[in-house]
Amino acid sequence: MRIDKLLANLGYGSRKEVKDLLKSGVVKVNDQTVKNGKEQVDPEKDTVTLHGEVIEYKEYIYLMMNKPQGVISATEDHYEKTVIDLLEMEDAVYSPFPVGRLDKDTEGLLLLTNDGQLAHQLLSPKKHVPKTYFAVIDQEVTDADVKAFQEGVTLDDGYVTKPGMLKILKSGIRSDIELTITEGKFHQVKRMFEAVGKKVVYLQRISMGPLRLDESLELGEYRELTDEEITAIK
Ligand code: URA
Repeated sequence: MRIDKLLANLGYGSRKEVKDLLKSGVVKVNDQTVKNGKEQVDPEKDTVTLHGEVIEYKEYIYLMMNKPQGVISATEDHYEKTVIDLLEMEDAVYSPFPVGRLDKDTEGLLLLTNDGQLAHQLLSPKKHVPKTYFAVIDQEVTDADVKAFQEGVTLDDGYVTKPGMLKILKSGIRSDIELTITEGKFHQVKRMFEAVGKKVVYLQRISMGPLRLDESLELGEYRELTDEEITAIK
């Protein structure tokens, strides 16, 4: 790829700024100063330095975010704050997007990437990627609900859900549960509980396929996936 494109992709400035940077002679490829933006480089093989510092190039970025409430799972919005607004500049230059959606009031595991193929795989209904949620329910959750979810419940639009695995963690006037589903219908967890006459008062996603929310991430924080996590989700 062209050296000017590589530098611009990595957030080193606009095309004009990158051109000036190259002109000033601070960029080297394999120890040779490169001033012409058209020069071709192979980011995998060539060593590119800026002011003597090696530039790491990667095509894809994979971020795990602990999404807070109050932000939407979109790349941009005129009115609402988005999960992309929570990223640092150097990560935002890769133009990652959220893989799937969490509601504005849902917290927890959200994967962001610019790897469209992976996103497609994870979201494809054919792949049945399991997603597990922790939720607080406004009333007692019973074994009858566990059975109903196992068999599939009918949502408000007549859709019958695939089996969901409901685990009651604490039952009482408010209940804590974990629910694993392999689909991603709009507001699915909330609507499944509505189908049995109950209301979700708090919702958090804790896993998606082999990825588990890193509990050391505060709400709104994120980190890159480890190599092991990337291998596991591919
Ligand atoms: N189900 C919901 O109802 N909301 C979410 O954000 C995710 C799953």
